[in-house]
Amino acid sequence: MRRRVIAGNWKMYKTLAETRAFFSAFTPLVANSRHCDIIIAPPFTAISTAAEAAKGTNIAISGQNVSWSKEGAFTGEVSAPMLTEAGCRYVIIGHSERRQLFRETDDNVAKKTLVALDSGLTPIVCLGEMQEDRDAGLAEEVLLRQFTGGPGALTPDEFSRILIAYEPVWAIGTGRTATPEIAATAHRFLRRCAGEQFSVHHASALRILYGGSVKPDNIQGLMAQEELDGALVGGASLDPKSFAAIVNFK
Ligand code: PEP
Repeated sequence: MRRRVIAGNWKMYKTLAETRAFFSAFTPLVANSRHCDIIIAPPFTAISTAAEAAKGTNIAISGQNVSWSKEGAFTGEVSAPMLTEAGCRYVIIGHSERRQLFRETDDNVAKKTLVALDSGLTPIVCLGEMQEDRDAGLAEEVLLRQFTGGPGALTPDEFSRILIAYEPVWAIGTGRTATPEIAATAHRFLRRCAGEQFSVHHASALRILYGGSVKPDNIQGLMAQEELDGALVGGASLDPKSFAAIVNFK
């Protein structure tokens, strides 16, 4: 049985004071939640504050992005060792907002994944099709391309140390969640890609999160699908009560 993961992606929200207030309210609400791994990805500036607030709790901290270089003259970038030092155990890589707004490619995703693994971080590699891909019947083709160029380029050992998040772009921040069946079909496809590229063992151990307008009122339907190993939550992770309701979906 794969252990479930509920991860919150705060995007470019929350000051340090708001981060502290969130943890004060959220931590007690999930203190007894042992059925899943709980992750929060604050903006870079709030990582240390979040890590401090999460010390001794069951909440792990994630970066939202990472440089593909360990150090160097890369103005504005943050490296994997810096994330680790600040208290991160995870990092989100290849989020659709990074791919669409900042032109990240599958090759960038592959490089970032390697540098993250090398620093002991667990990458949460995001992939997902756009609405026009789905309408044109190309959803699986896009997923296969993103899988092959990113996670599929890893060694089997490296692959066994990552999480994947299936995030259909049309469902992110739109309020249009994928139906549990659509999500499960995509997850099955990705698991098949993992099986063909690596092994049946790698495929069955791989944890795939679903992301796209997950809310307290749809989490149960999504988690009823065995294929879904958890959720990556954007908007609904900003409010402690709403994110705790998602974590405590059982
Ligand atoms: C996300 O940012 O990864 C996400 C899924 O956002 P939302 O839950 O707001 O759709």
